[in-house]
Amino acid sequence: MMASSHVPFAAICWLGYATYTNQPVTIPQLLVASFAGLLPDIDSPSSTVGRRIRPVSKFIGSMVGHRGFTHSLIFSYILVMSLMYITANFAGENAGLLYMYIPPLIVGYLSHILGDMFTPSGVPLLWPWKFKFKLPYTFKADSKTETVFVSWLVIFSFTAYINFVFLEKNPIQNVDLTNPDSVITYVSVLWDTPSTIDPAMVETK
Ligand SMILES: [Zn+2]
Repeated sequence: MMASSHVPFAAICWLGYATYTNQPVTIPQLLVASFAGLLPDIDSPSSTVGRRIRPVSKFIGSMVGHRGFTHSLIFSYILVMSLMYITANFAGENAGLLYMYIPPLIVGYLSHILGDMFTPSGVPLLWPWKFKFKLPYTFKADSKTETVFVSWLVIFSFTAYINFVFLEKNPIQNVDLTNPDSVITYVSVLWDTPSTIDPAMVETK
């Protein structure tokens, strides 16, 4: 998958995960997930992330190759454990806030691996076993099929989300569109982190 597909794919994976686990979707978490959707390609100096930190990506690429270790379950597991450890031991009073960004980061990261499984070359999910896992339905990276597939997935996911969840569970029903204060409060809630959302705040028109 291309970077332009990984970003929206990561976003909709987070949308699905957050909805499934009954948590409000916030824009900062959506952004973290989208960014994490690019991270595994840090093993390629020509990728979107790799180009920004060429020496690092060149080094990683020469050590583990493209679509190797960073596209595996074991690396994802090490990443989660490291993030949890760092947050618990070094984040101090910001730990609570940081913990909120670990799930979108991981979901975004895993979405990249899943996304690459849609391509015929697959991913070494169980690295160091070299076997490349791919889905029964695949398409070439940067092909028209990829663009069409991702576009439809994005349109479907976002409209489904807005219809079935956003309009029913989120406080948008309580937003009085003729009252600017009410709209501003609603937008600020979307930007907020889940722990600081006060339902009472948005229910008052
Ligand atoms: Zn990749």
